[in-house]
Amino acid sequence: MLLVGLTGGIGSGKTAVSDRLGKFGAGIIDTDLIAHQVTAPGGAAIPAILEKFGPEFIDSSGALNRSKMRTLVFANPESRQALEHITHPLIRLETIRQANNLAQAGAPYLVFVAPLLIESNSWKGIVDYLVVVDCPEETQIERVMRRSNLPREEVKKILQAQASREERLSQADVVIENQGSLATLEVEVEELHQKILQIQKNKLS
Ligand code: ATP
Repeated sequence: MLLVGLTGGIGSGKTAVSDRLGKFGAGIIDTDLIAHQVTAPGGAAIPAILEKFGPEFIDSSGALNRSKMRTLVFANPESRQALEHITHPLIRLETIRQANNLAQAGAPYLVFVAPLLIESNSWKGIVDYLVVVDCPEETQIERVMRRSNLPREEVKKILQAQASREERLSQADVVIENQGSLATLEVEVEELHQKILQIQKNKLS
């Protein structure tokens, strides 16, 4: 079965693309969503985060206090490692579980949506085909400011912590340009879906 990786910088449009691929029948595994679930109230990572970082990193709903943790891990790489040591194995387990379920349900191919796919060594060698969603940085900044109500400087910091646009593009098997309208994106995604089906077919024959 063809394993497709889907990545792109913050606000580039990964979800916009994966939602549309999902409508065409692709099996979508959103590792960002899984990462949120493990740190949501009652999430599998919460007890270990509480023990390692203390109650001030858990908000009143029982979820990870994201803004507090974001500030900590930006300033302190060791804390980032400690957090990832807790969350990554749990995210991996759930990713595999969902992939198995989707394969058994008959998905024609699987798409792993992973914001930090380029940055993470664990993905390399797993995906057969890498899709990168791309748009100018200014567009990313504007989208994220609008969507998440974050100040420009905060969004720029996130961008700077991610792989550069050039680095991502250099590893792509295919690039989805998402700087036009959502209607244009729809057409691009349909073409991508057909292309992936063809690659899958060639792989089987
Ligand atoms: P993140 O990395 O933050 O999860 P993402 O790469 O998944 O982001 P999306 O959530 O798909 O990006 O898009 C970011 C925002 O921009 C959303 O509010 C989305 O509706 C909007 N958006 C995406 N593509 C377009 C487009 N072509 N035209 C207008 N708005 C768009």
